[in-house]
Amino acid sequence: MSASENSSTIVTRFAPSPTGFLHIGGARTALFNWLFARHHGGKFLLRIEDTDRARSTQPAIDAILDGMRWLGLDWDGEPVFQFARADRHAEVANQMLAAGHAYRCYATPEELEAMRAEQREKKLPMRYDGRWRDRDPSEAPAGAPFVIRLKAPREGAVTIHDRVQGDVTVQNAELDDMILLRSDGTPTYMLAVVVDDHDMAVTHVIRGDDHLNNAFRQLTIYRAMGWPEPVYAHVPLIHGADGAKLSKRHGALGVEAYRDEMGMLPEAVCNYLLRLGWGHGDDEFISREDAIRWFDIGQVGKAPSRFDQKKLEHLNGHYIRESENARLATLVRPDVEALLGHELTDFEADVLLRSMEFIKPRAKNLKEIAASALFLFRNRPIAMDESAKALLDDPSKTILGLVFAALEPVADWTADTLDGVIRQVAEAQELKLGKVAQPLRAALTGQATSPGIFDVLLLLGRDESLGRISDQMTN
Ligand code: GLU
Repeated sequence: MSASENSSTIVTRFAPSPTGFLHIGGARTALFNWLFARHHGGKFLLRIEDTDRARSTQPAIDAILDGMRWLGLDWDGEPVFQFARADRHAEVANQMLAAGHAYRCYATPEELEAMRAEQREKKLPMRYDGRWRDRDPSEAPAGAPFVIRLKAPREGAVTIHDRVQGDVTVQNAELDDMILLRSDGTPTYMLAVVVDDHDMAVTHVIRGDDHLNNAFRQLTIYRAMGWPEPVYAHVPLIHGADGAKLSKRHGALGVEAYRDEMGMLPEAVCNYLLRLGWGHGDDEFISREDAIRWFDIGQVGKAPSRFDQKKLEHLNGHYIRESENARLATLVRPDVEALLGHELTDFEADVLLRSMEFIKPRAKNLKEIAASALFLFRNRPIAMDESAKALLDDPSKTILGLVFAALEPVADWTADTLDGVIRQVAEAQELKLGKVAQPLRAALTGQATSPGIFDVLLLLGRDESLGRISDQMTN
């Protein structure tokens, strides 16, 4: 850790382009930036890179902010919108021009195309050849359009001391004089990022390693302006289980899909993303407090990590079991109501809340919880699924009749009493408890699996339980 990382001046940022939703890789980048800033008591800023006017959309911006809020990645201050800062970017390009660190290039598109064609033919690297670098602008045709290009150093090399990738060096000869300001006066992405990071006082740039090549060019701008350089940390991208870069094909979806379609809890997603490329010993479950305490960007691995849905589900199951029942009930209620096609009454909402204790131990996601709770709210006579039907053969229906007769007089509808009564029925018939419990479960739930049978009897209550048994029994 460098000395500067002990100070409270650490500033990180997340800089998504709002051309799509907050995908899972972006969420991890945001998380790492957030954790690094929080660990050091610094600031975590948000910049929306909306300069691609054709592809940037308000719904994408909303989805990104919404996704970050859901993950609990709060940013400091207001988000910065890059497009609104175009004048400032142009100002810096003009400063560089005035200082001799940039120059006007009047090369026409046709001319550049001819240059590239020649490079292609001679199998030379394709890059701008610097034809206006040392020419006097007075040679330009009057009023001709121009771009402003960086006068990049041609000798020597640039080395980035990347916190994740280590030292990475590129020869300056390999970097051409990139455009800073286009002929219509709009800044290029490369310029905008550097100016914004500088103006936002960003000290640490943590982002996907697909931006590593940009860092060399971006450093040239910092150096030309004499600005303090940020520390870079380029994090390997997430790959799918097959080793290829994560894409839609792998189900690399927006984070809202993990929430809305897969029923994940945000702490499970964060814990999972945290451990994708970073770890703390063998710790599997890492609380947010511990993550803040332990996170160090320098320990992020260089190798790409593979996305593993099973591990995510495993973590999700853990966090579901740890969750307060009231929270779970609130989260699953809209799904339960949608599946039932009607709203829950207050009484039913209370049943849902009480059922969480029995349903959550086995659930991997909130969708499963909603599906598992549905039987509680079905109208009689409830439908039997195939496995329930199989349990309800004639002898079982007769047993249900005996169970009904034994339960009907019970006024004290408590777990202990119910347990005693059902056991008595089994003993009297010289049956194992399961032989009584299984048809009873089928009659009460319409399924062959459910929470414990006494819990089900309690959740449904006396009248509903007796009603459901009578619907299936033979007298
Ligand atoms: N807007 C870029 C992206 O979404 C990130 C740029 C950066 O982090 O420097 O990939």
